Amino acid sequence: MLSSPSGGGKTTIAHALLEARGDVAYSVSATTRPPRPDERDGVDYHFLSADQFQKQIDRGDFLEWAEYGGYRYGTLASVVEAIRASGKHAVLDIEVVGARNVRERLANVVSIFIVPPSAGALFERLTLRQTEASDELGLRIQHAVEEVEAAVEYDYLVVNDDREQAVAEVNSIIEAECLRTTRLDRLAPAMKELRQGLMDKAESLQK
Ligand code: 5GP
Repeated sequence: MLSSPSGGGKTTIAHALLEARGDVAYSVSATTRPPRPDERDGVDYHFLSADQFQKQIDRGDFLEWAEYGGYRYGTLASVVEAIRASGKHAVLDIEVVGARNVRERLANVVSIFIVPPSAGALFERLTLRQTEASDELGLRIQHAVEEVEAAVEYDYLVVNDDREQAVAEVNSIIEAECLRTTRLDRLAPAMKELRQGLMDKAESLQK
C-alpha cells in the first residue's frame, strides 16, 4: 500500500514501479470522483455513480472504502484477489483510513508512506497539476495535515525529494519484504532438502 498526501507523488511512483517490475500489478480502485482529463475508466479508476458505488457497498464488494474530499473511493476485493491469484504483488494507492482497514483485514500487507519533501513542494505540485478547484484544493491541504500525522502507522517512510531515488527505495523495500522468512513458503521444499542433505553429510562423517 502506498499512501501520501494528495500531490505527494504516490501515483507517479506506482506507475514507475509497474514499468520497472513485472511482478507487481496496480489495484484499480472504484471512485465516485469524476475523471480528470487524462484519466481512463478501468485503468486509473473504475468511475462509478454514487448509486453504483452504494450498490457495490451493499453487495460487500469492497475490501475497504473511504470518503475523501467529498467523494468515495474503494478497493474491490475481487481486483486484489485476482492479482494475488496471478502470483503478483498488488499495489494499492490508498488514503490513510483505507490503509488502516486493509491492515486489519489482510495479512502480508506492507505499507509505505510517501513523504513530500516540504509543504511548499506539495503545494506547488498540487497547484501545478491544476486538477482541483480552489475549494477542493483547500480540502486536500487540510487532509494532508491529518495524513502526515498518520505517517507513523506505516511500515516505511520514503521521502519523495528525487523521484528516481524514491522509486529505487520502494523497489528495495519490495525486494527485502519478499525475502522475509514469513514469506518464504515457496522455499520450504528447498530448505527441507538442504537440511536433509546436511544431516546425511553429518551422519556419513561420523561413520
Ligand atoms: P485522487 O482523487 O487524487 O485520485 O485520490 C484521492 C485520495 O484517494 C488519494 O489519497 C488516494 O490514495 C485515495 N484513494 C484512491 N483509491 C482509493 C481506494 O480504493 N481506497 C481508499 N481508501 N482511498 C483511495
